[in-house]
Amino acid sequence: MLYDHGIRDVKVISVRGSLTDHYNPQKKTINLSESVFNERNTASAAVAAHECGHAVQNANGYEWLQLRSSFEPVVGLTSNISMIVIIGGLILMNIIPFGFEIAVIGVGLFAIGILFSFITLPVEYDASNRALAWLQRKI
Ligand SMILES: [Zn+2]
Repeated sequence: MLYDHGIRDVKVISVRGSLTDHYNPQKKTINLSESVFNERNTASAAVAAHECGHAVQNANGYEWLQLRSSFEPVVGLTSNISMIVIIGGLILMNIIPFGFEIAVIGVGLFAIGILFSFITLPVEYDASNRALAWLQRKI
């Protein structure tokens, strides 16, 4: 699939764990879990083609993937601290005057994670559609 789309700079490698399959646009690697990498069955082919779909998105400058990639570091931070800020704000609510506002900020940080999920959906559907289209041409 990579070859058919003129992609020559992406490596397909095996990574430990199950359901760890992902495409890394920074390292330009398609990381397949050991079972997907080593087994020759329909499910493994579908997962591998889906991850190749992300590489095709990256090569074609697919806007939703770019938006998702730019959000990723922010979401990593906000999802880690949002619950601490919410709970901290609720605890401090009766102690300091702006405790409730801190909790609201925590909810806002949590909402960034929800927004990220909505950005992720079209990226995943598109990768699967690209994979399915390619697999159907090869059958
Ligand atoms: Zn995906």
